[in-house]
Amino acid sequence: MAVVSFKCPNCDGELVFHPRTQKYKCEYCASAFSQEELDQLLPGQGRQIQPNSGPQEGHAAGRQENTPVSERQAEEGNIYQCPSCGAQIVTDDTTAASFCYYCHNPVVLSGRVSGEYLPHKIIPFAIDKKQATEKFLDYVHSKKFVPKAFFNKSQIDKISGVYFPYWMVDMDMEGSMRAEGRNVRVWRSGDTEYTETKIYHVERAGELHLEDITKNALKKANSKLSSGVLPYDMAKAKEFHMGFLSGFLAEKWDMGQAELAGEVRAEAKEYGEKLLKDTVHGYSSLSVRDCRLDCRKENWEYVLLPVWTVTYKGRDGKMYYYSMNGQNGAVYGELPIDYKKVWMLSGMVFLVVFLLGLAGGFFL
Ligand SMILES: [Zn+2]
Ligand SMILES: [Zn+2]
Repeated sequence: MAVVSFKCPNCDGELVFHPRTQKYKCEYCASAFSQEELDQLLPGQGRQIQPNSGPQEGHAAGRQENTPVSERQAEEGNIYQCPSCGAQIVTDDTTAASFCYYCHNPVVLSGRVSGEYLPHKIIPFAIDKKQATEKFLDYVHSKKFVPKAFFNKSQIDKISGVYFPYWMVDMDMEGSMRAEGRNVRVWRSGDTEYTETKIYHVERAGELHLEDITKNALKKANSKLSSGVLPYDMAKAKEFHMGFLSGFLAEKWDMGQAELAGEVRAEAKEYGEKLLKDTVHGYSSLSVRDCRLDCRKENWEYVLLPVWTVTYKGRDGKMYYYSMNGQNGAVYGELPIDYKKVWMLSGMVFLVVFLLGLAGGFFL
């Protein structure tokens, strides 16, 4: 698998993606390049930024292939050679972008963002490390229940920017529901109390379109954290370029569609039933007798989303985790606070209902 780093056309220094300017910045000569400028400066290399290899530059085919250290390790595929200094880079099974431990050169493992792992889309970081650090400190200090000493700046300096893998699913469904609605009226006349119960047969049928059902695609991700930073503004998603990963950490999915399909469909059905129910008004009680929801069409997209993460060891010895949406700065943390309000699914799914055959309640 190729280890890729992105080099400055002026000085051959490392290029990293710069969230504030949304450009590629050279760490050495301070040049900045937009995607378009880089494409022009590296003509004939296509739309995507082409990887420059390190010491092997100029060799023929496969020049970016840095052979893993041994066959055994090749099978595990977790040890690579840094294109800049030649040192070993040890990764997890799911690492897609990282840094050389020795020379700090940012590297992208291209095999982990291609083929079945090629993201459909990416939301590039819009918040840089400095802003993220400030926002974290503001967040922590705004929490009355967190002792001030609980956090210090040096801990937060360990903040890291990670592109996490998610699946986003759009689904068309067709559904129908039969339910019983009741209205009860009580009145008095003289010494007699009358109760009138009207029972209605309620039917609903319609087509439903669910958009952006978002699922964490990484087993080792803390599911609360990875869901807590949702939602993202998907209108700002970009076509994937490997260059966006330069200067950040990135992970690839290890939970595929097959593994998650059941969960996604069950969730979609739950939303669907709720949507059908929400169209029924005017009864004091409603009990669903029968609800059928069939999936007509579903579309899965693989996306990388930017998250700033901080791990903190508290005085109580417990590990605390925080994450921040790298697009809008929303913070999610496991503080000893009430974060029920940030219930993972709220606002995560944008729902549209088209009601077709709408049969109102009628008196039995
Ligand atoms: Zn440079
Ligand atoms: Zn290195």
